[in-house]
Amino acid sequence: MITIIINITLALQMDGKYKDGYREQGARKALVEELRKKGIEDENVLKAIAKVPRHYFFEDTFLNQAYKDIAFQIGEGQTISQPYTVAYQTQLLHIHRDDKVLEIGTGSGYQTCILAEMGAKVYTIERIEKLYLQAATLLPKMGYKARFFCGDGSKGIAKRAPYDKIIVTAGAPTVPDELIKQLNIGGILVIPVGDQKSQKMVTVLKTSETAYEKIVLDTFRFVPLLGDKAW
Ligand code: SAM
Repeated sequence: MITIIINITLALQMDGKYKDGYREQGARKALVEELRKKGIEDENVLKAIAKVPRHYFFEDTFLNQAYKDIAFQIGEGQTISQPYTVAYQTQLLHIHRDDKVLEIGTGSGYQTCILAEMGAKVYTIERIEKLYLQAATLLPKMGYKARFFCGDGSKGIAKRAPYDKIIVTAGAPTVPDELIKQLNIGGILVIPVGDQKSQKMVTVLKTSETAYEKIVLDTFRFVPLLGDKAW
């Protein structure tokens, strides 16, 4: 009964555009199967993808694009990441409930929802004020809690550190040292590193206060990480 009342309250907070019916839920199931075929194995990640309404991040005209496995423009020259990329990065983070996660590059807020859906305590930072405001307004209405920041995330958010996990959703020229410093020992950083045309996904596992292990994985194409410790 309590759950029903909460759901009705949340539904009333959203305006008419935000409907999540059988059609959208079916489209998400199909997307999950597509991601599974492409190699995503973490069932908790797939469950989160099946749960979060990605079409809420699309304008009405482009709703039919929401469950295709593609990145899409969200304005300000930025993109909502491809679902495969979101799943790939999230899988590498090995999220546990209550992990404290810093996300650099809030963008639409979709990746933030996936992390929150998995039980992470998310700190997310975006440099473009309009995108920051949109995400900080929409996510609470969807029932997702996160701490939103506006500014240059290339140097992390030192005053809120340390974090169990850090995810960077824009392409960086190098791994910023500041981000490794802000990880707990045993913490993981996932960051695309390369030039502005293509990047390799890199994971960094912090093994002690002074040591870390780095693994270089597949190639992706992200918008650039701009800022003090980036482009
Ligand atoms: N995770 C996002 C999503 O699901 O929509 C995708 C984000 S988009 C690929 C990358 C975002 O990083 C853009 O919104 C961009 O403005 C932001 N960005 C780039 N450099 C940044 C920086 N130094 N600090 C914070 N955000 C940054």
